[in-house]
Amino acid sequence: MNVALIAHDNKKDDIVNLAIAYQNILKNVNLFATGTTGRRIHEATGLPVHRFQSGPYGGDQQIGAMIANDEMDLVIFLRDPLTAQPHDPDITALLRICDVHNVPVATNLATAEALVRAMEQGLVDFKPRGPETDR
Ligand code: PGA
Repeated sequence: MNVALIAHDNKKDDIVNLAIAYQNILKNVNLFATGTTGRRIHEATGLPVHRFQSGPYGGDQQIGAMIANDEMDLVIFLRDPLTAQPHDPDITALLRICDVHNVPVATNLATAEALVRAMEQGLVDFKPRGPETDR
């Protein structure tokens, strides 16, 4: 199972604490992250994390490419709704491609915890999935 972790700067402490709290679950999946988020999580937990570019330098798009290739099963993307982001188009595109490919995506801590617990209970479908609508 492949899981993406992304957090904007004001949410990085939250995603690190989430990873610490649920590392017994996260150690059983393949973790992918944008650059700084991945480094912070690895430093805090020791979990192996495949790190892409930092978000503003294309990391969101790299994770989006995995989603488009049906290679991502779940996305936790703790967005900062109160701060303008220079890569806002990339953020919108990432959320859109999650919807196109019906990938579970959490954009706040409450939903992230719900998804991680669902994953623990085997409630998240991680079979290869195609787009919502075949063309
Ligand atoms: P970062 O990127 O993990 O490299 O900070 C996240 C983002 O801002 O999209």
